[in-house]
Amino acid sequence: MQREVKTGATTGLGAATMRALVVEAPGRLRLDERLRPESAPEGWVLVDIARVGICGTDYHILEGNQPFFDYPRVIGHELSGRVAEDKSGFSRGELVTINPYVSCGRCRACLRGKPNCCTKIAVLGVHRDGGLTERIAVPAQNLYRADGLTPDQAAMVEFLAIGAHAVRRSGLTGADCVLVVGLGPIGLGTALFAQARGAEVHILDANAERLARLQRDFGFANTHALDDGPEVLMAATGGDGFDVVFDATGSARAIEAGFALVGHGGTYVLVSVVKDKISFLDPEFHKRETTLMGSRNATREDFETVKAALADGTIDSSKLKTHAAALRDVVEALSGWSADRRDIVKAIVTVAD
Ligand SMILES: [Zn+2]
Ligand SMILES: [Zn+2]
Repeated sequence: MQREVKTGATTGLGAATMRALVVEAPGRLRLDERLRPESAPEGWVLVDIARVGICGTDYHILEGNQPFFDYPRVIGHELSGRVAEDKSGFSRGELVTINPYVSCGRCRACLRGKPNCCTKIAVLGVHRDGGLTERIAVPAQNLYRADGLTPDQAAMVEFLAIGAHAVRRSGLTGADCVLVVGLGPIGLGTALFAQARGAEVHILDANAERLARLQRDFGFANTHALDDGPEVLMAATGGDGFDVVFDATGSARAIEAGFALVGHGGTYVLVSVVKDKISFLDPEFHKRETTLMGSRNATREDFETVKAALADGTIDSSKLKTHAAALRDVVEALSGWSADRRDIVKAIVTVAD
């Protein structure tokens, strides 16, 4: 562990340096010293990072459970920052949210308006170096103005956008009865946007304390413990099943169990991804005329939905941020958070203001 690194120090060659959190291998973190970029390629803009949200993907990277992941890597994909130069219509000092999904703009998905599932997608902090550092270069089209938001809020837009995207994909309305399974940050975002659309939202999670807290903090009236079983859940809908079920568990068994909770004519949205095969009984699937959909990442439209919900208070961000650390303490903080995540909704690292 390397702790004593000066920020913005000037080397003998006159170049400024910056700190960057590098995951060298599973369980091996280091606050590294790197040259600070002073220029970005055409169409890219330099951003001085303000806040970095930490999420399940980051913990998977730390633990070595992230599929197709190359070490070493600077992590960090839930990012807010201040534009570091006057360029591409942005002005220096402007607060921005960063969309970390860098798409190719040329594949069929991109051309059809779905850059969130670009065939060549490169996610900052996953497929290329991310933002748990002091300055990065980002394509101008991946920067969204965050006027009206705080730096904390601007760093929460990305994880909430995953849920906003899943809800938009589902097409649910205020007339629907909805179940969200798995209430980590992604499931919570999904439940919040379903609630914002006026749906009757039920939440199901294995962690009873978490459910109680979410009920208290966000007003979810219908909570279900894992041992409620399918009969109890079906009874909660008068036996009809749910119009929309969202899975955000990351568990193949939970995903398979969820098929039976979808009502006739209903929709099942898989938000979480698992490395396993998923199977279901076709007659049960077919008789419901189930609509099954995956939901991946988010697009600009979803980021805008989240920005508006944070700015007007539809989503109370003060209840989301449960843990915080400064960049200089990030190695210890990340190790502690990843060892016990039960009470964490969102942990945020402050890089600058
Ligand atoms: Zn994330
Ligand atoms: Zn593409």
